[in-house]
Amino acid sequence: MVDVTLLGCGGTMPLPGRALSALSVRCGGRSILVDCGEGTQAAARAAGVSLAKTDVICLTHFHGDHIFGLPGMLQTIANQGRTEPILLVGPAGLKKMAGLLLALAGPMPFAVHGLEITENTKTLPGPGGLAITAFAADHRVPCLGYAFSLPRAGRFLPEKAKAAGVPQRAWKRLQQGESVSCGGREIRPEIVLGPAREGIKLVYCTDTRPCLSLERAAAGAELLILDGTYATDAEADKAQQYGHSTFGQAAALAAKAGAKRLWLTHFGGALENPAAALPAAQAIFAAAEAGADGKQITLTFPPERDLCGAERF
Ligand SMILES: [Zn+2]
Ligand SMILES: [Zn+2]
Repeated sequence: MVDVTLLGCGGTMPLPGRALSALSVRCGGRSILVDCGEGTQAAARAAGVSLAKTDVICLTHFHGDHIFGLPGMLQTIANQGRTEPILLVGPAGLKKMAGLLLALAGPMPFAVHGLEITENTKTLPGPGGLAITAFAADHRVPCLGYAFSLPRAGRFLPEKAKAAGVPQRAWKRLQQGESVSCGGREIRPEIVLGPAREGIKLVYCTDTRPCLSLERAAAGAELLILDGTYATDAEADKAQQYGHSTFGQAAALAAKAGAKRLWLTHFGGALENPAAALPAAQAIFAAAEAGADGKQITLTFPPERDLCGAERF
């Protein structure tokens, strides 16, 4: 399962009760942090989320409302005695920007590695078995969205294990995806597992106009967390100009992608009550919700369905 906490849902400037962009994704006891706006540490503390086990920090882009919290956060983790390395992922320009941020943070007792992504899409292994896919967003500067996927292996088939002569004591390792050696032969897990099952996919993308790469990444996602800087359709021109989206555009994208849930985030400073503007978005995509600082969900594997769509109990 994947624990998701939206730490900050504000765009541009922090407000009382609304921190700037940051998202925590936890799986298998380890964490990924996406963006680190000013106030992220306090927002994490308020949400009961520890940032100490953060192994990967994914930055969408280098506007201040997404990165100004990073030096302070790294300093706090350093003070907590961390020695394990941290991987910093970001768009073109990461190396230069990381140099500035790390200079502000001061000497660290752990290594910070950087991965600058200039391709349209790139997938890398993340902590807890998550796969991280960075994809190009459409903002005013190079900007990435991120999809986090937890694959699910096929069902273990004991009859195939028996037929292959695998002793029962080795079944668990096969179920966990490891190969085992049996009578001098290597038995790979795919021999005793059924077809791969539907996993979990979470997509976070702000700041962006609606775009094809986001639409592709969002396909079938359990949860989309998308740019909702502007609430009304009347602000579509402004959204286009500044490289953002309206509630309606995000909702339309979620509907087209066949997502299960949508959280809107990165609210503009003038948007005092995002929930009030939700009904119009929900008319397009019923499962649209307003993000809020500390909003949490645990995503679990969806129920298995057979070919005619019936759920397996
Ligand atoms: Zn922003
Ligand atoms: Zn921006």
